[in-house]
Amino acid sequence: MAAKDIDSIISQKKPTQCYFCGKRDGLEKHHCLHGAFKKLAVQDGLWVWICRKCHEANKDSVHLDPNHIKDHYLQRLAQETLIKQYIKQGYPADVAREMFLQRYGRFFD
Ligand SMILES: [Zn+2]
Ligand SMILES: [Zn+2]
Repeated sequence: MAAKDIDSIISQKKPTQCYFCGKRDGLEKHHCLHGAFKKLAVQDGLWVWICRKCHEANKDSVHLDPNHIKDHYLQRLAQETLIKQYIKQGYPADVAREMFLQRYGRFFD
């Protein structure tokens, strides 16, 4: 059985609108920490709804922009959201950051 893709801790559960442009149809899930980190991002609910165009259909899109503007923005957003969640669970801020580092092996700055 496939691992359950938990609700996003960043976005709404239902595909309401594109995180970037607000478009309401053709929405796809983008895991903010992808590649080697995707498995953890699935477990941690670090994904957002993005329309096809903003996701990977033009050179400003998350996956195709050579400067990775949206990509890096979402990586930092995911990092900060997860650290905030650890803090909400009662961990001190420095411990929460260390937990993120232990889990993902790096910071996304
Ligand atoms: Zn969009
Ligand atoms: Zn994606």
